[in-house]
Amino acid sequence: MRRISILGATGSIGQSTLDLVRRAPGAYRVVALTGGQNIALLAADALEFGAEIAVTADPARLTDLRAALAGTGVAAAAGAGAISEAAARPADWIMSAIVGAAGLPPGLEALKQGGTLALANKESLVTAGPLLLGQAARHGATVLPVDSEHSAIFQALVGEDIATVERVIITASGGAFRDRPLTDLAHVTVAEASSHPNWDMGQRITIDSASMFNKAMELIETHEFFGIAPDRIEAIVHPESLVHALVGFTDGGLMAHVGPPDMRHAIGYALHWPRRGPVPVERLDLARIGQLNFRAADPARYPALSLAHRVMKQGGLAGALFNAAKEAALDGFMAGEIGFLDMARVVEAVLDDTLSREGLQNVTISLDSVQQADALARRSARDWIEQKRA
Ligand code: NAD
Ligand code: MG
Repeated sequence: MRRISILGATGSIGQSTLDLVRRAPGAYRVVALTGGQNIALLAADALEFGAEIAVTADPARLTDLRAALAGTGVAAAAGAGAISEAAARPADWIMSAIVGAAGLPPGLEALKQGGTLALANKESLVTAGPLLLGQAARHGATVLPVDSEHSAIFQALVGEDIATVERVIITASGGAFRDRPLTDLAHVTVAEASSHPNWDMGQRITIDSASMFNKAMELIETHEFFGIAPDRIEAIVHPESLVHALVGFTDGGLMAHVGPPDMRHAIGYALHWPRRGPVPVERLDLARIGQLNFRAADPARYPALSLAHRVMKQGGLAGALFNAAKEAALDGFMAGEIGFLDMARVVEAVLDDTLSREGLQNVTISLDSVQQADALARRSARDWIEQKRA
């Protein structure tokens, strides 16, 4: 029986992963499940799947978690350290589905086992791609992409020589505001930004989709994971979200990956890899769909995309600065401190402020240097937000 753990089990990706596990009784043994504030769900899942341990990120919720699991034989723990310890428990396949930079340390820990890390936490690649992939190589571990676009690219590359890749195109739905006049965007609300036209996802990534920061992260993720040059990677708006990515080869051929907007496809691919196995997603009826549309991503509407190209060209700690600034800007928007369009302004200002700083050039990417860059960018973003509010 395959042993699996899920970091971020109570989230959107975590729940979709458990859905696949639930449909294959007897195929998997669940080792560790981790979550955050939703103790009832974490405890219920730990019980249903007979996990060895359930861990909440919040030490203040440990009493509740212990109470919910009392007498069940499932161990309870709390805090970031406990999540990393859970990631170190022997397992064959570990899903990394925590949202944000907090996903990096447990991901690095999980890789030490030399098994498979299914990577939904794109922040670990954006902030510390070389560190994460270096750790995987050192320990003989496999990292499989679980973002829909990156799973699509990965699948299009099976049997191909990466040297013959001319370009990679990832698609973007355009998010909640793709058809809103540009002049309205300064005043859109958090609630409006939290509804996605095609995908059902966690709130933070949904808002990142409206601002295209999610796509910006994914451009960087493509560069880091597949080693493709920045000027060969682009994003295109595709409102139907059925084509997830296209890989163009030196002979002019384009391999497109088409599927329903359901993350269980990418999760299931990573779960069954290197084979294909049954995954209960909708089968597309192309005649009924009729047409697929594509349009250029307008740089004026989506400044995050140009920022991503700047980050890819800069390299080093630029990704860590970018991600932390983006997370702080998103916090500011969700708290009502800044407007929707200010998020890109914050990130640009933080990059201007930090990229040229002494000590950030030619630094080796380590967990330490990444966390320092992260803290620096969050401070710089907070300064910008405080000044704006003053
Ligand atoms: P979510 O908000 O629904 O769930 C996040 C999970 O992380 C929850 O279990 C939460 O308790 C946990 N968590 C939050 N903060 C934490 C912290 N500081 N420490 C430890 N755990 C913490 O998010 P999601 O939509 O499932 O996204 C998870 C990851 O997958 C993100 O990196 C996201 O970009 C990526 N992703 C998601 C989708 C999607 O369809 N939802 C698609 C592609 C990639
Ligand atoms: Mg994606």
